Amino acid sequence: MALPKRHKSAIVSGSVLLAMAALYSQMATPSSVTAPLSKRQSVALPTSVTGEQGAVRVIAPTLPTTPTRTVVSNSTPLVPSAVPSTTATTATTAAQPTPAVATAELASGNGAVANQSSEPEPVIDANAPTYQHRIEKGDTLSALFDRFAISQQQMLQVLEADYEVLALDTLMPDDILYFWVDGAGQLTKFEIEFDRARQVVFNRVDDTFSVERIEVEGHWRAHPTAIEIRGSFERSATKAGLSLAQAQQISQMFKDKLDFRRQLRAGDKVRVLHQYQSIDGEATGNWRLMAVEFEGRNWLHTAYLHDDGSYYDADGNSLARAFMRHPFEQTPRISSKFNPRRLHPVTGRVSPHNGTDYAARTGTPILAAGDGVVQRVENHRIAGKYVVIKHGGEYATRYLHMSRIDVKRGQTVSRGQRIGAVGATGRVTGAHLHYEFLIRGRAVNSLTAKIPMATSVPKKEKGEFLVKVDGYQKQMQEYVASYGGGETMTR
Ligand SMILES: [Zn+2]
Repeated sequence: MALPKRHKSAIVSGSVLLAMAALYSQMATPSSVTAPLSKRQSVALPTSVTGEQGAVRVIAPTLPTTPTRTVVSNSTPLVPSAVPSTTATTATTAAQPTPAVATAELASGNGAVANQSSEPEPVIDANAPTYQHRIEKGDTLSALFDRFAISQQQMLQVLEADYEVLALDTLMPDDILYFWVDGAGQLTKFEIEFDRARQVVFNRVDDTFSVERIEVEGHWRAHPTAIEIRGSFERSATKAGLSLAQAQQISQMFKDKLDFRRQLRAGDKVRVLHQYQSIDGEATGNWRLMAVEFEGRNWLHTAYLHDDGSYYDADGNSLARAFMRHPFEQTPRISSKFNPRRLHPVTGRVSPHNGTDYAARTGTPILAAGDGVVQRVENHRIAGKYVVIKHGGEYATRYLHMSRIDVKRGQTVSRGQRIGAVGATGRVTGAHLHYEFLIRGRAVNSLTAKIPMATSVPKKEKGEFLVKVDGYQKQMQEYVASYGGGETMTR
């Protein structure tokens, strides 16, 4: 089956070896399938703070106003949260599960299969999804596939392809799933809509799925905030309109520079510049921090976002400590390098290798490559036990196939801290660490990428950086001036 034109750039991934199908039935169902999807609901950080969940971050201050995304279909609007469940699509009534599915269950769900309105709309667009479902607390992927009468084997094919992006582990309530099912009950396409700016699309290719990340840039609008310190920083910041997550990001960033308890005094000023994303005039909830300036009586600490996703002070010095190139005490042999064009030895299809494989014995300690916060601890059918660390700036690292994990979600880790050990969990042929380095959610080659190994803005980028700093400062100062000089204000 040829890929539709719009998915030309799709990455074909996770080709299923036929032998694997037999294995599946013997493998224990991983927690990512059976655990209630709502378990991650307690994550407080908005999606834009979380690494590989991250929406596309546009660093350039000049931003396009129109989304670049191709709309899935004309007749099925991407459903905003306010739209009631009765608008659920009814594209192919014939293929819907019979009323054997408990009606009570459907009625309680927002993602009702049947259109309950008395005037069903005629289906014109054949590209509309067959079913859609808004994730609720307690949902499991296998139950949803069951509900829509899609075989578990097809769910496993989706999971297989998900190894590429590890998107299914990040599902949270209110994310929307779309299913395209043909008359023979075959899932031809599956889409996760995290928000209007970010979707992951699985397209069937024979017995496998290709996976494609869709990210809409939308429009990013600058929003300055002026904070005057009264009490703790976080208290003052939230009073001025910042979310707790935004305040925490700032205190985390400055933890090595500024003693928040001793150095900050009542009356100190903080200027903050955020950008908020909207698509077609509708806020997505995604934001990013562009600049922060702490001004005490006789000191100034600053942070400005550079193109590389890192924050630097006005002199171009990095706020974060440099990353370790390898997440080990002693570098093990590299058995497989990052390769976005890797061809699968059996299928001959492009099957990207998004990380660096280190051949090491089971039990070899794995170290955090940089300072950060543990964002995810999961057990995936293919990726095995894995950890995702969100670092300062716009970086994240992933550590796959671990034998043991020594950290918990939400835990702060330091560069060089042991987070677990090498193992052979998931689908592997031998013990190794698959290590990924992500910038704004995209895997890059950890061995060659320009990751913050250096501690200052490179000389040749310095001029460009300073122009940016100047722009940030103007936006913050104009705002402060227009409100009468740094008083605490609400948004
Ligand atoms: Zn690997």
